[in-house]
Parts: sequence; C-alpha cells; structure tokens
Amino acid sequence: MYYLSLSEYLKRTYGKKLYKISLQTGCSCPNRDGTVSKGGCTFCSEGGSGDFAAPLLPICEQIDIGIKKVEAKLPKTGGHGFIAYFQSYTNTYGETPVLREIFEEALKDDRVEILSIGTRPDSIKDDMIEALNELQERYNKKIWIELGLQSVHDHTAQKINRGYPLSVFEDCYKRLKSKGLSVIVHVIIGFPWESEEDILETVSYLSQLTPTLDGIKLQLLHVLRGTAMGNDYLASPFHVLTLEEYCSIIVKCLKLLPRETVVHRITGDGPKRILIAPLWSGDKKLVLNALNKAIREA
Ligand code: SF4
Repeated sequence: MYYLSLSEYLKRTYGKKLYKISLQTGCSCPNRDGTVSKGGCTFCSEGGSGDFAAPLLPICEQIDIGIKKVEAKLPKTGGHGFIAYFQSYTNTYGETPVLREIFEEALKDDRVEILSIGTRPDSIKDDMIEALNELQERYNKKIWIELGLQSVHDHTAQKINRGYPLSVFEDCYKRLKSKGLSVIVHVIIGFPWESEEDILETVSYLSQLTPTLDGIKLQLLHVLRGTAMGNDYLASPFHVLTLEEYCSIIVKCLKLLPRETVVHRITGDGPKRILIAPLWSGDKKLVLNALNKAIREA
C-alpha cells in the first residue's frame, strides 16, 4: 500500500536526509497559563508535548547544540541538512516582532532547510502569519506550521480540554494556507471513548480539506504519568489500544489520505520514563516492525 512518508518526501524534495533539532522559543501555552485554561490538554505532560527539547539559550546556540548532538550519531560523510523544530508548548503565543526575530535567526543558519513551528490554531495572529509569509519568501525555505488538532469531534475536544472548537481550526487553516504556509496536523489515535469510526471520520475530514493538507502526524495515545489522563487511568484503568488494533486503524487511516499528503508519523514518541500505557508502545522497534508489516500486507 502506498503512502508518502516524510523521509521519502524529504529525499525527493531535498535530495538528502534532513534531521530534526528541537528548539525552544520560551513561549508558554494559553491552555496552561490560565488564558484559555489552567489544566492544559488532559494528555499533555509538563514538557508541553515535546519532552526532548534543548534548554532555553539563544537560538544560534540551541542550533549548534542540537546539530552537534545529532551529528555525533551520524557517519562523518556529511551531505545532510536540518529542520529547526520548535515543538514544545505554543510557539506563536507571544509578541510577533520578538518571535519573528527568533524564527529569522533559525532561517539564517545555512544548515537549516526547513522551519517547523508547533502551535495552537487559536494563537496565530494575522501579523504573525504575514511575518512568516515574508520570512518564507525572503529565505526561500519552507515554513511548516504544526497544529495539534487531535480529533475533529467536539465531544473529544471537551473531554481532553483542548480549549477551542473545530471552527477555530478551520479559520486558522484557511488563513495559513492563503499565505502559502504548509500545515501539518496532529491526530491522536486511541482515546478510550472514540470508536474506530470516530477516528476515521477525523482522518477523512482532514483528507478532504481544500487546499490539500500538507502533512499529518498520526500518533498513538500515550497515557503519561503526571497528566490528568494518567491520573484517571491510575484511578480506574480504561481500554488502551492493542498493537494489533493500532496497526489495523493506521492502515485504514493511510488509505484515506490524498497521495500528496506527507505522513510525518505513524506512531508517537512518548517519553518512556513517564509512560503508563500502553506499555508495548515503549518498544519502538516492535511497533515499527508491526506497522510496516501491516502496511506491506494491506
Ligand atoms: S495546547 Fe499543546 S502544549 Fe498546550 S496543553 Fe495542549 S498539548 Fe499541551
């Protein structure tokens, strides 16, 4: 079964491997600081859905540290590039001129080919979109905006305390796409109250967006220690997906996607030290082997 993986897309577009380096703007999240709510999304850990980021230093230093770390694990042949990834919290939640400077610093680095910004659709003002559009054109490097939608169902949005309805996502998507920015949407698979049909409805909705969705991250629900969902689970364990169930759903999701939508992820990378369930997800090799087998046989 065909789907366009991120590595395939990067090889085709850039002719080389690009590695992600995790950076921080220092922004907080309106769903944690009391602007939208104080509790945050119920599945989100203290790290703000990005538990591997570098400490808060000037961007050029963060980039140097991130690149050194990645290159220490690579053969010395070179010929690769980097994606500057602002993953944790809500990276457009702040003053546009200040954030613009941070993003420009990342784009100025010759080793950085793509700028990727994780945020919430209720936290991107028009002047930020204008600034990103201008930076994208000036540096001729792609800017990806990553939105954690998780589900199109409003009952799920309420249960996970997402803090905005689908209409906010729809408005934001149109504004971003009208300025030529690439949008990648995160979907979580395995909320205990969502049926397979609910999950496929989310992916089907995203598959039908116009203009076509640039990228999607399909992630397994990780129940983590220290989160509201983790506390619920410990108090009264609920059903989490088995590896077989997860593989079967992923195959169905991939079948729904347009051929040009890049699949950035088919599983999540939850921090193992705080993982409560499902425990099989801690064995990355096992998960990837099972997923690849299910996809090959589909
Ligand atoms: S919006 Fe993102 S950072 Fe904020 S609480 Fe939700 S998942 Fe965490």
